[in-house]
Amino acid sequence: MSTLDVLPVPFARDNYLWLIHDGRHAALVDPGEAAPALAALEKDALTPVAVLLTHHHGDHIGGVPGLLARHPGLPVYGPRAEDIAGVDHPVSDGDSIALAALGLELAVLNVAAHTCGHLAYCGGGMLFCGDALFSAGCGRLFEGTPTDLERALTRLAALDGSTKVYCGHEYTLANLAFARAVEPENAARDRYAARCETLRAQGLPTLPSTIELEKAVNPFLRPGAAGIVASVAAHSGTPPASARACLAALRAWKDTF
Ligand code: ZN
Ligand code: FE
Repeated sequence: MSTLDVLPVPFARDNYLWLIHDGRHAALVDPGEAAPALAALEKDALTPVAVLLTHHHGDHIGGVPGLLARHPGLPVYGPRAEDIAGVDHPVSDGDSIALAALGLELAVLNVAAHTCGHLAYCGGGMLFCGDALFSAGCGRLFEGTPTDLERALTRLAALDGSTKVYCGHEYTLANLAFARAVEPENAARDRYAARCETLRAQGLPTLPSTIELEKAVNPFLRPGAAGIVASVAAHSGTPPASARACLAALRAWKDTF
């Protein structure tokens, strides 16, 4: 989508809301705070045409009332399975969202695990995945099970490799530190980490990454890799019985890392 651009709007400690725009109209993904969202719209004189919410956590939806107060009637898309105030276009897996003003169609994917109704939006070579998948990591299992997590990540990993990954937080460096601990040998990951350190030193986002890159560097997308299985076995004292068990152990390990 050469006519569309995606702007990161950093807010709070490490959140991003994403502004998909064509220079005139914009869709906002996960506006956790209204002030930075409104300032970003105003700065480039963009007219908001939609809000897309991935899940119900406050740092992803907190700006909705303020956006609606300023832009009454702004369509707000969000998970049908989660009760989010302000959502007037509830959507679920298999739905498609046509953002006519942007010439963009987004497929709605169920990636529940971090929360029970978590959605991702995918189209135009872009994936907006909230806290389901991070660069080199994934969201905590607050409401779902390891089975849910495996299903969600398998689904995202099956997307076209060139798909750009826009996630909800700048956690990349911390995730890479964990990735290094669980898989000491990974040359692609080390090259990526060097690039990310340079970006962060300049105050720039590490995002978006791509599905292809995540499949090379993200331990949660490759829980069957020999080096990872060995580390999980050493850490927990027993070899994981399956890739899913390895994924569950990885997620639990990361919770206390
Ligand atoms: Zn969250
Ligand atoms: Fe979050």
